[in-house]
Amino acid sequence: MSTLPYRRAGRSGLDLSAFSFGLWQKFGTDHPFQTQREIILHAFELGITHFDNADRYGPPHRAAQKLFGRILHRDLAAYRDELILSTKAGNPIGASPYLQGGSRKSLLGSLDHSLRDLGTDYVDIFYHHRQDDSTPLEETVGALVSAVQQGKALYVGVSNYDTERAHQAAELLRGSGVPLLVHQPRYSIFDRRPELNGLLEQAATDGFGLVVYSPLAQGLLTDKYLDGIPDGARAQNSAFLKPDVIDDTYRQRAEALNKIASERGQSLAQLALQWVLRRPEVTSALIGASSTAQLDHNVQALDFPEFTAEELALIDEHGVH
Ligand code: NDP
Repeated sequence: MSTLPYRRAGRSGLDLSAFSFGLWQKFGTDHPFQTQREIILHAFELGITHFDNADRYGPPHRAAQKLFGRILHRDLAAYRDELILSTKAGNPIGASPYLQGGSRKSLLGSLDHSLRDLGTDYVDIFYHHRQDDSTPLEETVGALVSAVQQGKALYVGVSNYDTERAHQAAELLRGSGVPLLVHQPRYSIFDRRPELNGLLEQAATDGFGLVVYSPLAQGLLTDKYLDGIPDGARAQNSAFLKPDVIDDTYRQRAEALNKIASERGQSLAQLALQWVLRRPEVTSALIGASSTAQLDHNVQALDFPEFTAEELALIDEHGVH
């Protein structure tokens, strides 16, 4: 196993690998197991020790955790102590009120099911997947605390919470003796919300880390779509990345960013990943991949010189709508 740098999650004692790997897309039963296994084992060989999952990931829901459970049992059991496994609950996985939201029933029921699917006694990080204003935050936080007290999770996180709600959760959790370890927002050159809504600063103030998802904007921040949509690419067949986003405006922005990257001797993907990790509040960049070659390429993102102020300004000029 090679080593990637580790970065400390907020003011906790836990380090996470600079890149984390997520099983959201292409890790359901609709893709070949052998390829999925190869990618996951390769990520681990490259030094990615944090694997992000959720009850929702598939298709069908729960399939990605069952898949990871098989690989854990078959290939990675000896390394359980060196792995950080995350799961999330609360994003709908069914019509029942107990299969969504932030209630104690929904969160703890999902966690038990996820532990069975993953074939492990505990996850390292248990997240509430999505803010739920219809449930008292005290109840949601109480469920996260219980997960830790019951030994089913070591740490807790929230995802897709707005800044104020994340701050309130951090305060309640601190008061319960189970500090908020991480928040998982979307953040990339194309999605500046964590800069605009104060989340980066709040993370530093409250002492939680940020595990940022879709840092490549699902592949838009690579050079793959500059000449159309290649066969098998996510934009060809995903409800979450529609082909119509690949228009002339997109291409102009991506071409300009690609030019900045090549002047620095790196690819657009590497520039985009290095860019999110330039912020100390960001503990880890949470990436996906559909091949081992993408992973080999992406983990080299940190091998380049830091950005100059001029380069950052140019990235802003072309990255912000
Ligand atoms: P990315 O922005 O890293 O996109 C990854 C995709 O980009 C790959 O699957 C691949 O897609 C393409 N890609 C990656 N590297 C390259 C490369 N070098 N050249 C060309 N194409 C490349 O992240 P994701 O959107 O996949 O999200 C990552 C993880 O974040 C998820 O798996 C999940 O764990 C988490 N997440 C959490 C959410 C939440 O609500 N908390 C929501 C969304 C994601 P392809 O080859 O198929 O085109």
